[in-house]
Amino acid sequence: MKIDVLTLFPGMFAGPLDESIIKRARQAGLLELSIYNLRDYAHDRHKTVDDRPFGGGPGMLLKPEPIFEAVEAIARPETRVILLSPSGRPFSQRVARELAKVPDMLLISGHYEGFDERIREQLADDELSIGDYVLTNGALPAMVMIDAVTRLLPGVLGDDDSATEESFSNGLLEYPQYTRPAEFRGMKVPEVLLSGNHAEIAKWRAEIARQRTKERRPDLL
Ligand code: SAM
Repeated sequence: MKIDVLTLFPGMFAGPLDESIIKRARQAGLLELSIYNLRDYAHDRHKTVDDRPFGGGPGMLLKPEPIFEAVEAIARPETRVILLSPSGRPFSQRVARELAKVPDMLLISGHYEGFDERIREQLADDELSIGDYVLTNGALPAMVMIDAVTRLLPGVLGDDDSATEESFSNGLLEYPQYTRPAEFRGMKVPEVLLSGNHAEIAKWRAEIARQRTKERRPDLL
């Protein structure tokens, strides 16, 4: 999969995407990641990318010209262009699975008060929010999405089943898990997990997952 990111802060991407599973996915060629600096597409002396909103109001907006030019230079016809914004549709595991099937996407990360509306209307195929809160810019949302999508690509996780038996994969939160020792400071692992009876274990896990989801996230049921 190819993921391009357009941002004012390319430096923020160094680190989180250079470690662990995402690093290995990149080294294996399963994820091709390119980070573009929006300022490279501004042509005045000060590399201006923002301006005041018409009609007044606080803060600055990202101007259309550099973003249009960047998208026209970076995107291919098959690229899914995604605007990152708190007003977008909610990003979720279901959306991550949908995006993992897209061969090519461009994430446009905002800053200041956000984008001139013409960017939204003309350039974006999709607009996504990572949650009902406002961050200073779209770099963290972009990294959250890259991580969530990359781990779903075939071959990225050591055991591809890891991505099918986890929270949200079947609409429920994950069941509780335990490892050795079977007893720690008086706390015992549920007997059924030590029984070796796989049908009983699966039944117990399904029941607990449902119960936990009902208690913590009834909206998922
Ligand atoms: N004025 C905007 C609003 O009220 O919706 C908020 C702009 S925010 C300070 C700057 C940028 O950060 C946004 O343009 C977006 O790219 C990114 N951003 C902030 N919170 C986000 C979220 N929850 N999901 C996705 N992107 C977000």
